[in-house]
Amino acid sequence: MEDISSKDLNELKKYLEDLGEKPFRAKQIYKWLHQSLATDFSQMTDLSKALREKLLKEAYITVPEPVDIQISKEDGTRKYLFRLPDDSLVESVLMKYRFGWSVCISSQVGCRMGCAFCASGMDGLLRGLTPGEMLGQIEAIQRDVFTDGIPKPDSEEYLRNRISHVVVMGTGEPLDNYDNLLIFIRMLTDENGLHISQRNLTVSTCGIVPRIKELAEKNLEITLALSLHAPTQEKRRKLMPVANKYDISDAVGAMKYYQEKTGRRVTFEYSLIKGVNDTDEDARELSELLWRGAHINLIPVNPVKERTFTAPTRAAAMDFQRKLEKFGINATIRREMGQDIDGACGQLRRRHLER
Ligand code: SAH
Repeated sequence: MEDISSKDLNELKKYLEDLGEKPFRAKQIYKWLHQSLATDFSQMTDLSKALREKLLKEAYITVPEPVDIQISKEDGTRKYLFRLPDDSLVESVLMKYRFGWSVCISSQVGCRMGCAFCASGMDGLLRGLTPGEMLGQIEAIQRDVFTDGIPKPDSEEYLRNRISHVVVMGTGEPLDNYDNLLIFIRMLTDENGLHISQRNLTVSTCGIVPRIKELAEKNLEITLALSLHAPTQEKRRKLMPVANKYDISDAVGAMKYYQEKTGRRVTFEYSLIKGVNDTDEDARELSELLWRGAHINLIPVNPVKERTFTAPTRAAAMDFQRKLEKFGINATIRREMGQDIDGACGQLRRRHLER
């Protein structure tokens, strides 16, 4: 069976030609799948019955099935647990901001990066997600947000409730699933589908250096974020095994290269852990590692059941921020959403914890 949900428009054209169909059918089907959010071939009423039946026999639509939705009492953030066609489970998060709806998706089932403070990698990696499974998380959530069925693409209701921002910051390392990530980006931004602007997409990586450089050559306008979490190689190695493979200075250098090559400002993520990476010395070393004007997101570390890391107090985090600012680094403290439902950074998993 063909995974029709993972084909970008060009691939879909080729596929339909192989089936002996006219290539213009591809755009129709693509729109049904990724704009009208169809879950079944029988909904595609402008295709001939014969073609619908052929597709039903030859291909399948990837529809992540929501098996649980938790809603935060603090901020309304929703965490979805999805079952995929092979029964694997992934989590995604929906957040409401002033600028609109934003979705955080997973890129893999589990993760093999093994960061010390993160729950997502604790069961290891099962597999990378297909492009259709990455996109499917957003589409399933979009169906849920449109409570009265899918409105017409240009209607007021559509514009009011469309998901406009996506971050690839859930479970998994996106650059460890590189080829599928690139197809996903193409499909996400296609005007015949969800049509989300590249500028509204952020991809976060733990720092797979050669892939960052490759990505820089692709002429994309997406925002790239590096999970840094320590100011020196020595400290970073203790928290992030990936540092054993790629030195911190090479990771930061690759980010600088990405910024110069694409003209897009990169960001750095830094989970503040009390007594581990939040001292005055850390702030000073961090400012030496980065450049003036660099942008860093400080995230007071979120609790993970199996770990003892704790976050600094709000006052200490603000103090750390001020120190960085004094050195010419733009630092913001990120408002963590959905903590009470384990929906915040580093709290997503591929299995369901007992509640
Ligand atoms: N693998 C990618 C994508 C995961 S993004 C990456 O490493 O960037 C998730 C972000 O949350 C990363 O910056 C990650 O380092 C951070 N994170 C993980 N565990 C966390 C925790 N317990 N508290 C706060 N942030 C955490």
